Amino acid sequence: MKNYRVGIIGGGASGIMAAVMAASFGAIVTVLEKKEKIGKKILVTGNGKCNLSNLSFSAREYYSDNPEKLPDYFSKFSVEDTVHFFEGNGMLLFNRGGYLYPRSGQAITVLHTLEQLLASYKVRIVTECEIFSVEQNKRKDKEKFHVQSSQGDFFFDRLILSCGSPAGEKEFSMAGYQYAMHFGHTLLKPLPALVQLKGQGNFFKTWAGVRCEAKISLWKTNRQGTKLIQEEIGEIQLTDYGISGIPVFQLSRHVSRALEENAKVKVIIDFLPEFSEKEWTAFVQACQLHAEGKGFASCLEGILPGKLVSVFLKYVQVKPDDKIARQDKRLVKLLELIRAFPLAISATNPFQNAQVCAGGIPLSQVTQNLESNYTKGLYLTGEMLDVDGRCGGYNLQWAWTSGAIAGASAAGGKLFAEKERIPIRNSLMEGNVRDTRRRPGRTESTNPAAVKKKKKH
Ligand SMILES: Cc1cc2nc3c(=O)[nH]c(=O)nc-3n(C[C@H](O)[C@H](O)[C@H](O)COP(=O)(O)OP(=O)(O)OC[C@H]3O[C@@H](n4cnc5c(N)ncnc54)[C@H](O)[C@@H]3O)c2cc1C
Repeated sequence: MKNYRVGIIGGGASGIMAAVMAASFGAIVTVLEKKEKIGKKILVTGNGKCNLSNLSFSAREYYSDNPEKLPDYFSKFSVEDTVHFFEGNGMLLFNRGGYLYPRSGQAITVLHTLEQLLASYKVRIVTECEIFSVEQNKRKDKEKFHVQSSQGDFFFDRLILSCGSPAGEKEFSMAGYQYAMHFGHTLLKPLPALVQLKGQGNFFKTWAGVRCEAKISLWKTNRQGTKLIQEEIGEIQLTDYGISGIPVFQLSRHVSRALEENAKVKVIIDFLPEFSEKEWTAFVQACQLHAEGKGFASCLEGILPGKLVSVFLKYVQVKPDDKIARQDKRLVKLLELIRAFPLAISATNPFQNAQVCAGGIPLSQVTQNLESNYTKGLYLTGEMLDVDGRCGGYNLQWAWTSGAIAGASAAGGKLFAEKERIPIRNSLMEGNVRDTRRRPGRTESTNPAAVKKKKKH
C-alpha cells in the first residue's frame, strides 16, 4: 500500500479521529490547527464530562440534506466501533441511561487518549497555523494539494477538511466552508442548533432561575398555515431571556430554520406533562370545587414554583390576594395556562452559545467514503457537513464516524459496513436507557438490540 501524505485541516474531534485512522492505515499524517492546541472543543463537551456517544442509537437521531446516506456511514463506524476504539485503547467508558462518557468523568481523558494515539502513530501536529490558501496542484509530477500557511508550505496527496462549524466558537469564521467551496462545493446556510431560545414578553426576569419538568411543543406559522413541528419532554430552564434546557435544545434547529424562512414561531409549554387527560379533568373539577374564597396565589402555590405563580397571575391580570369567585373564569384561564402556556419565539441565541450547527456542505456532495464529488483526494468530515444530531452524544458519534471513514479512505484503506460485530461488554450495556423524545410521526425503537437488527440489512 502506498504511504500517502495526508493533510488534515482542523484538529477537532473528527480531524483527530481522521488522523489516527489514516496513520493506522500507513499514511504520513499532518494536522494543521489554527488554535494553540488541538481538541479544545472536546474539553467543553458534556459540561466537561464529554458525552461521546449513545447506546440508544439510530441514524434517525440526525438531520441532513441527505439522511438516506447516514445508515451506511454508521455501519462502517458504529457506536460499537466507538466503544471498542476507546476501550481498546485503554479508556474505559461509562453508561448513564444510554449516554456514554469516559469512566473518569472527565473530557480531558478523551483528549489525552487521542493525543497518545497521535503520538504513537507519529502524526505531526502543527498548531497556531493560519491557512492562507489551499490549492490543488494539477501537474502530474507534483503532489496534489498545496497549503500555504503561517507555518510554511505543505504538500499532500490527500486533504481532509475537518474545520467544524462556528458553533460554540468565540470568533465566527467561515474559512473551512470557503476551502470546500473553492473546490466546487456549495453551502447550505449554517444556523445555530442545540441552542437556547429567546422569547417575546416582559416577564422573563420574574421566572428566571426556575427549572421544571415540562412538555414543549413547537408551532410554526407561515403562508401554508400553522403546523406542529415537534414536541419534547424533560427539564427546562426558564431564563431572563426565554427558555433553555435539553428539550429546548432539541427543538432549536427547527426554530433557526423557521425564523430563517421568516415564519412565525411559538412554543406551547405544558407545565404538568405527567397528567393524563382523565387525571387533569378530575383535578380541575376538584380545584374549582374547593377554590372559592381562596386567594389566587395560594391556590396555585401547590401546583407551581412561586416565580411561575407570579408570572401566571400577571398574565391573567389578577393580584395574588384576589379571591376566587364561584365559577371564576380567571381560574379556568389560569388552569388552562398551566397546561398550555404560549411563548412567542423571537430568535435563538447566537452561534457562540450553540453546541452544533444546522447546515453546512451538503452530504449529497460527498461519496460514501466522504470524498468530494468534485475534487478527487479531498475529504470532508464532522460538522462541516450538513449533519447535525440531537443532544446526547450523537454529534461526537458523527465526528468519530466521519473522521474514521475519511481517514481510512484518504490513506487508501477502507472501513466495511459488513463485518463481524464484537459485542459490547455487558457491564457497559446495563443501565436504564431513557428516552424523552416526543416527535410527531417519529416512532422508533430505542432498544439497542432492535437497532442492531435494523443495521443488518
Ligand atoms: C459547549 C459544547 C458542548 C458540546 N457537548 C457535546 C456532547 O456532550 N456530546 C456531543 O456529541 N457533542 C457535543 N458538542 C458538539 C461536538 O463538540 C461537535 O459536534 C464536534 O466537536 C464536531 O467535531 P468537528 O471535528 O467537526 O469540529 P470541531 O471539534 O469544532 O473541530 C474543528 C477544529 O478545526 C479547527 N479549525 C477551524 N477552522 C480552521 C482553519 N481555517 N484552519 C485550521 N484549523 C481550523 C478548529 O480550531 C477546531 O479545532 C458540544 C459542542 C459544544 C460547543
